[in-house]
Amino acid sequence: MQDSNTQNRTSEFDFRILMWDKMKMISEETSEAVKALRKREYGHSYTSSDDSCSKVSFLLYQTLCLSQLLPQLAKDRVGGKTLSQPLASGKEVVDLGAAWLNEVTQPKIFALAKKYGYETVVQTSKGDGIVEDTSGNIQRVAQDQLLNLSPATLQAMGMITSILETEAAKLDLRDLPISPFDKLTVSDFLKQKGAVEDAYTYFETIVKGLLGIDAIELSLFFYLDYIQSGGSLGELMSERSDGAQYQRLRQGMQSIFRGMAGDLQPGSLFLESPVSHIQHENSSTCTVTTQKGKISFVSLTGVVSFSYDTSVEADGQYSITCFIVGGTGRKWSVLSPTKRRQTVLNQITAMVGDEHGHRVYETEEIIEDEWIKEQWRKGAPSPVMGPNLLNKYADVLRAPCGSLHFVGTETAYEWKGYMDGAISAGARGAGEVIDALRKSAAR
Ligand SMILES: Cc1cc2nc3c(=O)[nH]c(=O)nc-3n(C[C@H](O)[C@H](O)[C@H](O)COP(=O)(O)OP(=O)(O)OC[C@H]3O[C@@H](n4cnc5c(N)ncnc54)[C@H](O)[C@@H]3O)c2cc1C
Repeated sequence: MQDSNTQNRTSEFDFRILMWDKMKMISEETSEAVKALRKREYGHSYTSSDDSCSKVSFLLYQTLCLSQLLPQLAKDRVGGKTLSQPLASGKEVVDLGAAWLNEVTQPKIFALAKKYGYETVVQTSKGDGIVEDTSGNIQRVAQDQLLNLSPATLQAMGMITSILETEAAKLDLRDLPISPFDKLTVSDFLKQKGAVEDAYTYFETIVKGLLGIDAIELSLFFYLDYIQSGGSLGELMSERSDGAQYQRLRQGMQSIFRGMAGDLQPGSLFLESPVSHIQHENSSTCTVTTQKGKISFVSLTGVVSFSYDTSVEADGQYSITCFIVGGTGRKWSVLSPTKRRQTVLNQITAMVGDEHGHRVYETEEIIEDEWIKEQWRKGAPSPVMGPNLLNKYADVLRAPCGSLHFVGTETAYEWKGYMDGAISAGARGAGEVIDALRKSAAR
C-alpha cells in the first residue's frame, strides 16, 4: 500500500530529492553519523555523455546527505522560486519570485536572512488602495476603508470569510481528518454559499493571489489546510506586523540562497542537472540519473489581479510588482511581449486615473518573469491540489520511499507554500536522514 501510494505521489508532485539548501540545515550532530559511515564502503560512479543532456549517475550510500549528496538543481542558478533581478539603473534588485517574510511568524527564513547579514525593509502600506470591481468601476480607498459594495455582498463576504477561518482553525495540521471538503472545489463552495459576482470574484482574487490558480481548480480541503498552515486567512493576506507580506529584503530574497550556496563545499553543487530518474539498486543504494509607491491595487477584472509597492527608498528604487495569475495569467501569457506590457501599462494607467496616468508610460524598466513557462517550476507560488487528492495522499506526503526522503514547501506543516515552510520541511527531512544514518551506522 505504501509503495503504490508513494508511486502515485511521484506523479502528483514534483519528484524531488533532498536538496542542497535543505541539507545545509543538518547540524553538527550529523557529521558524526556521516563520519562513521564514510569509513564504510560505498559505491560512487559518475559518467557523462556528449549529448545535449549530460547524464550523471551516481550511487548514493543509504540516502542523500550533506557530505555525500551531490545537490542537484535543474536550473543554472540557486534559489528555486526566488529570483532577484538587478535593475539596469543599478539601484539594487527587484524580486520576481518570493519576496516577503515576517520576522515573528516565519522565524526560520528570517533567521537565515539575519545569518547572512541581510537587511529587511517593512512593506509600505501607506497611501490609497485602488480596486477595480467586476463592473470595471475603479474605487480608490484609504487604508482600512471599506469598499463600496452592496450590503448583500458585504454580508456574503463576512459570512464566507468566517466559515473559511473557522473550518481552517479546526484542522490539526499534523493529523488531518478525511474531509468531505476535499470533494469540493473552492468555486463549488462559494457558489453553495451564495457568493455571486463581486463576492465570488473577491474570494477568487484571494485564491489567485495566494495560490496562483482559479477557484475552480482548487480543493476546498487543501485551501483550508493551506490557510491554517499560515495562521489564518487574515494573516496570509496582510501587510501588517502579523502578516505574510510584512517585510522584504533590501538585497533581494535570492541572496539568502546564494549565501547558503557559498557555504557548501566546492564541487558539491550541481546546477543544470535536472533529475530524470531515480532507481533503487538495493536497500541502501540509489542511482540518480540527471539530464544536463505608495499605491497598491487590486483588480477583479483586469489582467493584473493585485500589486504591491516594492520600492526601497534607501536605494532610490521605485517599483510596483504586479501579479498576473490563474486563468487570466494563462491567457495573458500567450500574448506577444509588446502586447503583454501594453496591457499591463494600460491597466495601471486606467487605475491610477488622469492625474498620474500619463507617468505610467515613463516607466524606466519593465521586468517580467513567467513562472508557468519554467520547465522545473511549473507555475507559482507552489504546488497545489485539486479535489480528491488530499484525502488520499495526506498520510504519504512526507513518507520516505526506501532511502529517498521528501522535502519541499508543499510537505511543510506550517507555512506550506512559503519559504519558511521550505526551510522547516528541509529540517524535517534532514532529521529523517540523520536517524537513518545513525541506524545504519549502528548496524
Ligand atoms: C512569484 C512568487 C512569489 C512568491 N512569494 C513568496 C513570498 O512572498 N514569501 C514566501 O515565503 N514565499 C513566496 N513564494 C513561494 C516560495 O518561493 C516557495 O515556497 C519556496 O521557494 C519553495 O522552496 P522549495 O525548496 O520547496 O522549492 P523551489 O524553490 O521550487 O525549489 C525547487 C528546486 O528544485 C529544482 N528541481 C525541480 N525539478 C528538478 C529535477 N527533476 N532535478 C533537479 N532539480 C529539480 C528546481 O529547479 C528548484 O531549484 C513565491 C513564489 C513565487 C514563484
